[in-house]
Amino acid sequence: SLTAGVVAVQGDFREHAAAIERAARAHGERADPIEIRSSGTIPDCDLLLLPGGESTAISTHLQREGLADEIVAHVDAGKPLLATCAGLIVACADAGDERVENLGLIDATVERNAFGRQRDSFETDLDVEGLDEPFPAVFIRAPRIDDAGDCEVLATFDGQPVAVRDGPVVGTAFHPELTDDAQVHRLAFFERIDG
Ligand code: GLN
Repeated sequence: SLTAGVVAVQGDFREHAAAIERAARAHGERADPIEIRSSGTIPDCDLLLLPGGESTAISTHLQREGLADEIVAHVDAGKPLLATCAGLIVACADAGDERVENLGLIDATVERNAFGRQRDSFETDLDVEGLDEPFPAVFIRAPRIDDAGDCEVLATFDGQPVAVRDGPVVGTAFHPELTDDAQVHRLAFFERIDG
């Protein structure tokens, strides 16, 4: 079975763990989720999830606990990472906020809370590249992806990218763990469309 690390500083890490287990089952695999708060465990993980929450707090914790370097090494080794909402903000190249130490794992720039000005949260059905059915996407004070760089855009909303892939890393502006649909977790971890 696969060891699935879920960074558990903030956010819905239990929901993410459950979604990973469902996605693995749907793909005929088994995943053992573990909650990551300190260094030393990520090197054992086959796949990694960086959830939403508050990106400045998450970033501070990742730097202080030595997790940031381990996450970078995980991706450098070609192992998959799914980074959602605040996770995307931390994983991207630049979020324009000096309190966030961007990991540069997704070649995109984002603006924090850019959807939140209009409405704090909303749900919409998204067409996601690689999925057969529309995905029920929940946005909560979500970042806007201003420049998707060399990323493959997997989904757009209002003409702007909201899900991207950069090699082994998938980033979403929305929260894929908040519905029963585990397709985005499946896409990120078990169905590398580029092989
Ligand atoms: N607004 C949060 C931030 O900028 C992200 C929101 C979320 O993860 N739902 O960090």
